Amino acid sequence: MKSLFPPGTIGIIGGGQLGNMMIYRSKKLGFRFAVLDREDAPAKALSDVFIEGSLKDAAALEKLAEVSDILTYEIEHINTDALDALYSRGVQLYPSPVTLRTIQDKLLQKELFIKKGLPTAPFFVEENPLTADFSSKTFPLVQKSRKEGYDGKGVKVLKNTADQPMNAPSIFEEMVDIDKELAVMVARGRDGSVKSFPVAEMAFNPDHNICDTVIAPARIDEKTAARATEIAVSIVEALDGVGIFGVELFLDKQGYILLNEVAPRPHNSGHYTMEGCVTCQYEQHVRAITGLPLGDTTLVRPSVMVNLLGEPVNKGKVVLDGFEESLKVPGVSIHLYGKAETRPFRKMGHFTVTADTIDEAIKNSEYIRGLLKIKGETK
Ligand code: ADP
Repeated sequence: MKSLFPPGTIGIIGGGQLGNMMIYRSKKLGFRFAVLDREDAPAKALSDVFIEGSLKDAAALEKLAEVSDILTYEIEHINTDALDALYSRGVQLYPSPVTLRTIQDKLLQKELFIKKGLPTAPFFVEENPLTADFSSKTFPLVQKSRKEGYDGKGVKVLKNTADQPMNAPSIFEEMVDIDKELAVMVARGRDGSVKSFPVAEMAFNPDHNICDTVIAPARIDEKTAARATEIAVSIVEALDGVGIFGVELFLDKQGYILLNEVAPRPHNSGHYTMEGCVTCQYEQHVRAITGLPLGDTTLVRPSVMVNLLGEPVNKGKVVLDGFEESLKVPGVSIHLYGKAETRPFRKMGHFTVTADTIDEAIKNSEYIRGLLKIKGETK
């Protein structure tokens, strides 16, 4: 397959913030972008061609394919049957629908981890959790619906048999005694070449289970970082992935690394690469799917990324607090996603702070976290 050169058109299924950042970080290479999404999608403004429609609508996907040289996606919950139809007709689509199908189902992911001998939390499957008998099971358990989960939705901790499971075909994992949650962005080219980014550390907000801080490099020893990278690369190869992948891992209190899950797209834990690395995750994805050489992933400066979530009590038109003060902090870069309306905990943007040391980056990011608020007009 020939590489795609600028000014070829890349069609993105989904025009959320990830699609938008893919465009603003890759337009410099000279590519054109077509986007399929709802009318108010953040990526609409920067797209060269915008198709309004549902990501699950086969006819809309068909239209996107018509105006694009290759297709990719920024969200994994899309219509795989329609993608299969395009793919089997020879439409270039990365990552492939085969890779996507495995990732869309947490059971298939786990089965692949095990087949490849990659370490992961022990689990069992229940297709009908409401009628299943858990009396012989050891609690606590982490229930994960097989499909359609994201940002902790579709995940429930069951403390004992009195806790009602979610009513969806699910896997149930042993609770891992987590020391740190780690993430590695891995890019794999069409030719099988692979480059990984430095291992990052994810911190979660305990109130709503969304990862809201990413620290790169992770504060772990070299051996642990090498092991995390090795596992992350192995799973992307096992998936025959082409493009960028966000691989989430647990470091447990005994020092073992366990594979949690894989996202077939740019990932929150890779936002820091925009300021922190020579090549960012978005450009790397575009290089991978177009068949171009992968870029240098060296970390230029220690980085901390913080998600800007809508304040818990506000909604409506966005009102910013502390914006100017935050912009004065050395090493800061603020990204607002252009969403007109805020809601409690909605991902509205993020900022990254780079500094000479990770401690300084953490200190400056905490200062901004206390200052910069996304409020809404109404309560
Ligand atoms: P999602 O697809 O929603 O991101 P994850 O599988 O990443 O779901 O789970 C969300 C969060 O729940 C994880 O980041 C972690 O904090 C916690 N979690 C998931 N699985 C386990 C586990 N087996 N043991 C302990 N905590 C877990």
